[in-house]
Amino acid sequence: MKLERLTERIWFLPYEEARDRPNLGYIRGDRFSVAVDAGHSAAHTQLFYQALVESGLPLPAVTILTHWHWDHTFGMHAIHGISVAGQRTGQHLLRFQSRLDREGTGFFFAMDERIVCEYAELPVIVTLPDMVFSDGMQLDAGHCLIRLYEAESPHTDDSTLIEVPGERTLFLGDACCGTFPTWEKDGALCRRLADTILKADADICLEGHWTPLSRDETVRGLLEDCDAN
Ligand SMILES: [Zn+2]
Repeated sequence: MKLERLTERIWFLPYEEARDRPNLGYIRGDRFSVAVDAGHSAAHTQLFYQALVESGLPLPAVTILTHWHWDHTFGMHAIHGISVAGQRTGQHLLRFQSRLDREGTGFFFAMDERIVCEYAELPVIVTLPDMVFSDGMQLDAGHCLIRLYEAESPHTDDSTLIEVPGERTLFLGDACCGTFPTWEKDGALCRRLADTILKADADICLEGHWTPLSRDETVRGLLEDCDAN
Protein backbone atom coordinates (compact mmCIF):
# COMPACT_ATOMS: atom_id res chain seq x y z
CA MET A 1 0.00 0.00 0.00
CA LYS A 2 1.29 3.43 -0.97
CA LEU A 3 1.24 6.77 0.78
CA GLU A 4 -1.07 9.42 -0.59
CA ARG A 5 -0.05 13.04 -0.62
CA LEU A 6 -2.60 15.47 0.77
CA THR A 7 -0.73 18.82 0.81
CA GLU A 8 2.84 20.03 0.49
CA ARG A 9 3.76 18.77 3.96
CA ILE A 10 1.12 16.11 4.63
CA TRP A 11 0.80 12.47 3.50
CA PHE A 12 -1.25 9.54 4.78
CA LEU A 13 -1.34 5.75 4.50
CA PRO A 14 -4.96 5.04 3.48
CA TYR A 15 -7.36 3.14 5.75
CA GLU A 16 -8.20 -0.55 5.19
CA GLU A 17 -11.62 -1.94 6.04
CA ALA A 18 -10.86 -5.68 6.33
CA ARG A 19 -8.55 -5.25 9.31
CA ASP A 20 -10.16 -2.00 10.55
CA ARG A 21 -6.92 -0.11 9.97
CA PRO A 22 -7.37 3.68 10.08
CA ASN A 23 -5.58 6.29 7.99
CA LEU A 24 -2.14 7.00 9.43
CA GLY A 25 -1.20 10.64 8.95
CA TYR A 26 2.25 12.12 8.40
CA ILE A 27 3.32 15.77 8.74
CA ARG A 28 6.77 16.76 7.55
CA GLY A 29 8.38 19.69 9.34
CA ASP A 30 11.79 21.06 8.42
CA ARG A 31 13.25 19.84 11.75
CA PHE A 32 11.24 16.70 12.49
CA SER A 33 8.22 14.76 11.32
CA VAL A 34 5.03 13.88 13.15
CA ALA A 35 2.69 10.90 12.72
CA VAL A 36 -1.02 10.97 13.45
CA ASP A 37 -1.97 7.66 15.11
CA ALA A 38 0.30 4.68 15.73
CA GLY A 39 -1.48 1.84 13.93
CA HIS A 40 -3.67 -1.17 14.74
CA SER A 41 -0.68 -3.44 15.44
CA ALA A 42 3.08 -3.54 14.94
CA ALA A 43 2.44 -4.95 11.42
CA HIS A 44 0.38 -1.88 10.50
CA THR A 45 2.99 0.50 11.92
CA GLN A 46 5.74 -1.29 9.99
CA LEU A 47 3.76 -1.10 6.75
CA PHE A 48 3.45 2.66 7.29
CA TYR A 49 7.19 3.05 7.94
CA GLN A 50 8.03 0.96 4.88
CA ALA A 51 5.86 3.28 2.76
CA LEU A 52 7.64 6.32 4.29
CA VAL A 53 11.06 4.86 3.48
CA GLU A 54 9.96 4.07 -0.10
CA SER A 55 8.87 7.71 -0.46
CA GLY A 56 12.20 8.97 0.93
CA LEU A 57 10.56 10.48 4.02
CA PRO A 58 12.17 10.38 7.50
CA LEU A 59 10.47 8.30 10.20
CA PRO A 60 8.39 10.34 12.66
CA ALA A 61 10.03 11.72 15.80
CA VAL A 62 6.63 12.19 17.44
CA THR A 63 3.41 10.17 17.12
CA ILE A 64 0.20 11.86 18.26
CA LEU A 65 -2.81 9.72 19.20
CA THR A 66 -6.30 10.89 18.16
CA HIS A 67 -8.00 8.67 20.81
CA TRP A 68 -7.38 5.46 22.72
CA HIS A 69 -9.12 2.90 20.47
CA TRP A 70 -7.01 -0.20 19.69
CA ASP A 71 -6.99 0.30 15.91
CA HIS A 72 -5.29 3.70 16.35
CA THR A 73 -2.93 2.89 19.24
CA PHE A 74 -1.94 -0.76 19.69
CA GLY A 75 0.96 -0.41 17.23
CA MET A 76 2.49 2.09 19.66
CA HIS A 77 5.07 -0.37 21.02
CA ALA A 78 6.61 -0.42 17.49
CA ILE A 79 6.86 3.32 16.82
CA HIS A 80 10.00 5.30 16.15
CA GLY A 81 10.42 8.27 18.53
CA ILE A 82 7.96 9.25 21.25
CA SER A 83 4.18 9.23 21.58
CA VAL A 84 1.94 12.09 22.76
CA ALA A 85 -1.68 11.81 23.86
CA GLY A 86 -4.38 13.59 25.79
CA GLN A 87 -4.46 12.58 29.47
CA ARG A 88 -7.78 10.75 29.12
CA THR A 89 -6.35 8.67 26.28
CA GLY A 90 -3.53 7.60 28.60
CA GLN A 91 -6.07 6.68 31.32
CA HIS A 92 -8.17 4.58 28.92
CA LEU A 93 -5.09 2.74 27.66
CA LEU A 94 -3.97 2.00 31.22
CA ARG A 95 -7.41 0.56 32.05
CA PHE A 96 -7.44 -1.58 28.92
CA GLN A 97 -3.88 -2.78 29.54
CA SER A 98 -4.83 -3.84 33.11
CA ARG A 99 -7.91 -5.68 31.83
CA LEU A 100 -5.85 -7.58 29.23
CA ASP A 101 -3.38 -8.53 31.99
CA ARG A 102 -6.22 -9.81 34.18
CA GLU A 103 -8.48 -11.49 31.62
CA GLY A 104 -6.31 -12.30 28.59
CA THR A 105 -7.23 -11.46 25.00
CA GLY A 106 -10.59 -13.33 24.67
CA PHE A 107 -12.82 -10.33 25.42
CA PHE A 108 -10.79 -8.15 23.05
CA PHE A 109 -11.09 -10.56 20.11
CA ALA A 110 -14.84 -10.92 20.80
CA MET A 111 -15.35 -7.15 20.27
CA ASP A 112 -14.97 -7.19 16.47
CA GLU A 113 -14.15 -9.83 13.81
CA ARG A 114 -11.70 -7.44 12.21
CA ILE A 115 -9.55 -7.42 15.36
CA VAL A 116 -9.17 -11.20 14.97
CA CYS A 117 -8.05 -10.61 11.35
CA GLU A 118 -5.45 -8.06 12.42
CA TYR A 119 -4.06 -10.22 15.21
CA ALA A 120 -4.15 -13.63 13.51
CA GLU A 121 -0.41 -14.13 14.09
CA LEU A 122 0.52 -11.25 16.37
CA PRO A 123 0.70 -10.70 20.12
CA VAL A 124 -1.46 -7.94 21.63
CA ILE A 125 0.83 -5.40 23.29
CA VAL A 126 -0.51 -2.21 24.84
CA THR A 127 1.90 0.54 25.83
CA LEU A 128 1.21 3.93 27.39
CA PRO A 129 1.99 7.31 25.83
CA ASP A 130 5.37 8.84 26.62
CA MET A 131 3.90 12.30 27.07
CA VAL A 132 0.38 13.41 28.01
CA PHE A 133 -1.25 16.84 27.88
CA SER A 134 -4.53 18.31 29.04
CA ASP A 135 -6.50 20.91 27.03
CA GLY A 136 -3.94 21.46 24.28
CA MET A 137 -0.36 22.01 23.19
CA GLN A 138 1.58 23.17 20.15
CA LEU A 139 4.55 21.67 18.35
CA ASP A 140 6.86 23.53 16.02
CA ALA A 141 8.21 20.85 13.68
CA GLY A 142 10.25 23.44 11.73
CA HIS A 143 8.31 26.02 9.71
CA CYS A 144 5.32 23.84 10.49
CA LEU A 145 3.07 24.62 13.43
CA ILE A 146 0.96 21.75 14.77
CA ARG A 147 -1.82 22.38 17.28
CA LEU A 148 -3.31 19.52 19.25
CA TYR A 149 -6.27 19.89 21.54
CA GLU A 150 -8.91 17.89 23.36
CA ALA A 151 -12.39 18.20 21.88
CA GLU A 152 -15.84 17.00 22.86
CA SER A 153 -17.06 14.33 20.46
CA PRO A 154 -19.90 11.80 20.06
CA HIS A 155 -17.35 8.95 19.59
CA THR A 156 -15.31 8.88 22.82
CA ASP A 157 -14.57 11.22 25.74
CA ASP A 158 -10.87 11.47 24.82
CA SER A 159 -10.77 12.91 21.28
CA THR A 160 -7.71 14.89 20.27
CA LEU A 161 -7.88 17.02 17.12
CA ILE A 162 -4.67 17.85 15.25
CA GLU A 163 -4.63 21.07 13.28
CA VAL A 164 -1.92 22.10 10.83
CA PRO A 165 -2.82 25.70 9.97
CA GLY A 166 -0.05 26.16 7.39
CA GLU A 167 -1.50 23.26 5.40
CA ARG A 168 -5.14 24.17 6.15
CA THR A 169 -5.68 20.60 7.42
CA LEU A 170 -7.45 19.09 10.42
CA PHE A 171 -7.05 15.45 11.54
CA LEU A 172 -10.18 14.23 13.32
CA GLY A 173 -9.54 10.57 14.14
CA ASP A 174 -12.99 9.01 14.67
CA ALA A 175 -14.37 12.09 16.46
CA CYS A 176 -17.31 12.48 14.03
CA CYS A 177 -18.49 8.87 14.48
CA GLY A 178 -21.01 7.57 17.01
CA THR A 179 -20.13 5.40 20.00
CA PHE A 180 -18.75 1.88 19.53
CA PRO A 181 -20.43 -0.61 18.98
CA THR A 182 -23.93 0.86 18.34
CA TRP A 183 -22.63 3.97 16.54
CA GLU A 184 -25.30 6.12 18.20
CA LYS A 185 -24.53 9.84 18.14
CA ASP A 186 -25.42 12.31 20.85
CA GLY A 187 -26.86 15.41 19.13
CA ALA A 188 -25.46 17.94 21.63
CA LEU A 189 -21.95 16.48 21.33
CA CYS A 190 -22.22 16.55 17.52
CA ARG A 191 -23.10 20.23 17.59
CA ARG A 192 -20.24 21.06 19.98
CA LEU A 193 -17.80 19.19 17.76
CA ALA A 194 -19.15 21.00 14.68
CA ASP A 195 -18.49 24.35 16.42
CA THR A 196 -14.93 23.26 17.23
CA ILE A 197 -14.28 22.15 13.64
CA LEU A 198 -15.64 25.43 12.28
CA LYS A 199 -13.20 27.40 14.48
CA ALA A 200 -10.15 25.52 13.15
CA ASP A 201 -7.75 27.05 10.63
CA ALA A 202 -8.51 24.33 8.11
CA ASP A 203 -10.27 23.63 4.81
CA ILE A 204 -9.48 19.89 4.56
CA CYS A 205 -10.53 17.30 7.14
CA LEU A 206 -9.16 13.77 7.40
CA GLU A 207 -11.19 11.27 9.41
CA GLY A 208 -9.86 7.95 10.66
CA HIS A 209 -11.69 5.62 8.30
CA TRP A 210 -12.63 7.72 5.28
CA THR A 211 -11.14 9.70 2.40
CA PRO A 212 -10.27 13.40 2.88
CA LEU A 213 -13.22 15.80 2.69
CA SER A 214 -13.68 19.55 2.74
CA ARG A 215 -14.50 21.03 6.12
CA ASP A 216 -18.03 21.93 4.95
CA GLU A 217 -18.72 18.35 3.81
CA THR A 218 -17.39 17.00 7.10
CA VAL A 219 -19.56 19.27 9.24
CA ARG A 220 -22.61 18.63 7.05
CA GLY A 221 -22.17 14.84 7.44
CA LEU A 222 -21.67 15.14 11.19
CA LEU A 223 -24.86 17.18 11.70
CA GLU A 224 -27.08 15.39 9.15
CA ASP A 225 -26.32 12.04 10.73
CA CYS A 226 -27.01 13.19 14.23
CA ASP A 227 -30.22 15.02 13.30
CA ALA A 228 -31.49 11.78 11.75
CA ASN A 229 -31.12 9.99 15.13
ZN1 LIG B 1 -12.43 4.93 17.43
